[in-house]
Amino acid sequence: MSKKYRVGILGATGTVGQRFCQLLENHPQFEITALAASDRSVGKPFAEACAWKLATPMPENVKNITVVPIEPPLDCDLVFSSLPSSVARETEETFARAGYPVISNSSSFRMDEDVPLLIPEINHDHLDLLEVQKKKRGFTKGFIVTNPNCAIMSFAPPLAALHNKFGVESVFVTTFQAVSGAGYPGVPTLDIMDNVMPYIAGEEPKVETEAQKILGKFNGERIEKADFLVSAQCFRVPVIDGHTASVRVKLKKTSTLEEVVEAISSYPSLDLISSPKPFMAITDEPDRPQPRLDRDRGNGMTITIGRLYPDNIFDYRFVGLSHNTLRGAAGAAVLNAELLIQQGLI
Ligand code: NAP
Repeated sequence: MSKKYRVGILGATGTVGQRFCQLLENHPQFEITALAASDRSVGKPFAEACAWKLATPMPENVKNITVVPIEPPLDCDLVFSSLPSSVARETEETFARAGYPVISNSSSFRMDEDVPLLIPEINHDHLDLLEVQKKKRGFTKGFIVTNPNCAIMSFAPPLAALHNKFGVESVFVTTFQAVSGAGYPGVPTLDIMDNVMPYIAGEEPKVETEAQKILGKFNGERIEKADFLVSAQCFRVPVIDGHTASVRVKLKKTSTLEEVVEAISSYPSLDLISSPKPFMAITDEPDRPQPRLDRDRGNGMTITIGRLYPDNIFDYRFVGLSHNTLRGAAGAAVLNAELLIQQGLI
C-alpha cells in the first residue's frame, strides 16, 4: 500500500472543516492525525467540540482526537486550513515557516503575488510559483497554496474554456450564494428566510478579481493576470448548499454557439483521485442547473452549466452552479493536495 500523508486541519470544527473530515474518512492518500480550532474547542474530544451538521455520520476516526490550538508543532505532514481570514494570515504563514505545506481555503493569501491560486484543471503550472515563494519568504520545506472563493468556482471554469479558445473581454456576473457559505451558525434565520440579501461582506471585490489571476500566465517570476474586467453583484439566498452564478460574457474573437458549447464540454478533467468526470457538464434542460438537483453531481466536484445562449448585449450568457463547501472549499483543497503529491511537491 502506498504511503499515507498525515493531515492536520485548522478550523476543523467549522463548516468547511467538517467537509474535510468527511472527504478524508476513506481517502487513500491521507489520514487525519491532528484537529485544531479555537480556545472554545481546545482540549475537548472532537465529538464534543464539533456541532456536526453533515448528513453522513461523524467519522469514527476523528471522534476521539483531542482538539489542539492552531499553532505548530502539529502531529502531521501537511495542513488544510479553513480558518476565518481574520486569523488565517498570521497562522498560515507561521505553519509554512515551520515547514508545513499549507493548503488554504481562506482569502488571506489568495491575491499575494507569490501564492498560487489553484484550480488544478486550469492552472496547475502556477505551482512553479512555489519556488519564487520559498525564496522570497525564506521558507525551507513549507509553502502556501490557496483555492478560489467559493462563488468563483461556479463560473471561472467555463470562462477558462472560453478564454483559451476565444479570449474573454468582459464579464458581468450575479451570484446567488448558499447560506453554508457563511459558515456556522451563519446568517440569522430571520434575515434569510423569505428573503434575498443583496450584500455579502467583502464578496464582490473577490469575485471581480480572482478569475483574472486564475486565468493568468506564469512568467517565471509572477502571474500576469488575464486582462478582462468583471462586474459582480453577490446575493445571499435561502439555499443550504450550492452557489449559482448568472453570467454574461463578451469574447475577443467571434464564435458560434456550437464552438462555445464544444469549448466547454470538451475541456478535460484530470486523473487525480478527486477529479470529477466530467469537470464541467452542460445541461440543455431549460430549468437547470438548480442547487438542490445539481450540486452533488460528480460527488459535488462537477460544475454544471445551463441556459447557455447568445446574448443581446454581451456575446453569450449562461448559468453556472457549483457546490460551495465541496468544489468551492474542502473538495478543492483536497484536489490541490492530490496535485501537489502527483507533482512531487509534498
Ligand atoms: P466556520 O463554520 O465559522 O468555522 C470556522 C472554524 O475556525 C471553526 O473550526 C472555528 O473553531 C475556527 N476558528 C474561528 N475563530 C478562530 C480563532 N480565533 N482561532 C482559532 N480557530 C478559530 O467557517 P467556514 O465556513 O468553515 O469557513 C472557514 C474558512 O473557509 C473561511 O475563511 C471562509 O471564508 C472559507 N471558505 C468557506 C466556504 C464555505 O462555503 N463555507 C467556502 C470557501 C471558503 P471553533 O469551532 O472552535 O470556534
